[in-house]
Amino acid sequence: QDVVNKIAAGEIIVAPVHALKELIENAVDAGSTALEILVKEGGLKLLQITDNGHGIDRDDMAILCERFTTSKLKTFEDLTSISTYGFRGEALASISHIAHLSVTTRTKESSCAWRAQYADGKLVSPKPGQNADPKPIAGRQGTQITVEDLFYNIPSRRRAFRSASEEYAKILDLVGRYAVHCTGVSFSCKKHGDSTTGIFVPANANTVDRIRQVHNSTVANELIQLSAANERWGFKSEGWVSNANYSVKRTTLLLFINHRSVESSAIKKAVEQTYANFLPKGGHPFVYLSLEIDPHRVDVNVHPTKREVNFLNEDEIIEIICDEIRESLGKVDTSRSF
Ligand code: ADP
Ligand code: MG
Repeated sequence: QDVVNKIAAGEIIVAPVHALKELIENAVDAGSTALEILVKEGGLKLLQITDNGHGIDRDDMAILCERFTTSKLKTFEDLTSISTYGFRGEALASISHIAHLSVTTRTKESSCAWRAQYADGKLVSPKPGQNADPKPIAGRQGTQITVEDLFYNIPSRRRAFRSASEEYAKILDLVGRYAVHCTGVSFSCKKHGDSTTGIFVPANANTVDRIRQVHNSTVANELIQLSAANERWGFKSEGWVSNANYSVKRTTLLLFINHRSVESSAIKKAVEQTYANFLPKGGHPFVYLSLEIDPHRVDVNVHPTKREVNFLNEDEIIEIICDEIRESLGKVDTSRSF
């Protein structure tokens, strides 16, 4: 059974960045306003995320890593409204099957923090001879999740990673996306032993400042704000997109649907076509879009490794967004580029 679970987990989490995405989303779901991420060897040696969210009850710690353990599904109604999030209660379980996982957490009600270690979905004792129960320790409200030696028990997977810096680049890309999107939340992401590079965004930064921090100041100075909604297609969209004076070598699309970072090749293609009429040949846009779509209309099939999302009336919704982009680009004075 453990072999089956291990194989399944290895399919859900293929690279460190997939584990981190789940952990970031959990921290945000817990109402955190500060996230600190520490990475060693591209996340293969260590992924640690510390939040200041509501924490986990000591009594829930025993089942935390069992499959389908979730605190986010309370009623049948929720079953439909969680559809955007795809799979439920599987992230920590999966991680525990393919890494050394430890959790330190404290709720507001608790008089101390609790620390526990997990393997294969269950609590394990940190040292031989000790019991596996969570241990009380000092700590602040919030949760710290430590994932060590990812894929330690899947040597073929481990060997497939060529470079830690490639994995770290994927991690920075992901953290950068959430750091732009999650206003009100501070982010720090760094590599062990290197406290100068990485991502640092304060909680009070607005979206443009976040883009300035994560990307660069040039793009932040050339942004247009978007905002569209349509009741018939059940969606709202907000965003910041580069104007006709700015272009990059490759399209940068930061796309969020219902506050999850996702990909949509349909949106990407439509956006590229829209900009093609406004940018010099070979130029591409920077686009940050946050869509809220009635969850009933979003394809349930979201998987950490398969971020491509589909939703109903895609063509109509994309058309409305691109019309808005077209209109804003048309308004921008491009004379400055001469
Ligand atoms: P899901 O997010 O789908 O519920 P997970 O396996 O990702 O499943 O997490 C299981 C449960 O563990 C969550 O429902 C939540 O109750 C708890 N949890 C995980 N991470 C955190 C965190 N950072 N802060 C508070 N609770 C957490
Ligand atoms: Mg989760």
